[in-house]
Amino acid sequence: MLGRLAAGAGRVGSSIVSWCADVLAPRVCLSCGVEGAWWCVSCVAQLPVSGSFVCGRCERPSPAGRTCATCARDFPLQHVISIAPYAVASVQQMVQMVKYMPAHDVAQAYAILVAEFCARPANAALRAAVGHDLILIPIPLHWSRELERGFNQSAPIAAALADAGWGTVHDEVLVRVRRSAPQAMLTRAARLENMTDVFTVQRPDAVRGRAVLLVDDVCTTGATMSSAARTLRRAGAGTISGFAIARG
Ligand SMILES: [Zn+2]
Ligand SMILES: [Zn+2]
Repeated sequence: MLGRLAAGAGRVGSSIVSWCADVLAPRVCLSCGVEGAWWCVSCVAQLPVSGSFVCGRCERPSPAGRTCATCARDFPLQHVISIAPYAVASVQQMVQMVKYMPAHDVAQAYAILVAEFCARPANAALRAAVGHDLILIPIPLHWSRELERGFNQSAPIAAALADAGWGTVHDEVLVRVRRSAPQAMLTRAARLENMTDVFTVQRPDAVRGRAVLLVDDVCTTGATMSSAARTLRRAGAGTISGFAIARG
């Protein structure tokens, strides 16, 4: 609900807000210095979008990011697709900056990147691999964190996938009921523990028997996506996969 309200208010106010921001402090592309946006269209287009395809759990190379047979026993995601390794400096810079930018800019930068990725002929087969008519679910923030940040950075990624014809966004299905410690501060074991019982499904009818694609900005150990996937599986979802801007 909070997300929908914020999105609605964001649409109404974003043009006014961005106009005021441009007048008060002109945006300058962090990569090339051109005025107009924190990431200009041509610089986003130059980011690597060939995809990073490894098993979401053991990180061995795997076509379409399919979970390998060994890991499939206790890893609930069928595929984990990511646009680029987090180690790529320009991608890392974008993900870091997005956390501190107004929602309008986030949507612009991520949406261009996702559109570039989806437009690559080699990546078209990925959509078929994860399933048709997908339910796209941005990993929700806890409401208190979304209030602090002002937006969910995964929402524009899901919206861009929907624009590319991957499926329909359902940001009302999954809710984060517990505010967990930031994953980046924790070890792998602590990350898994930290993400236990974090999510709940409030609209099981929307996902029952359907192919779901969970959407996040960064996927490291897969602990967050796995926790969400287990919750969705208990609610009756069909195959569940993940999509992230950066991997690692
Ligand atoms: Zn630029
Ligand atoms: Zn594996």
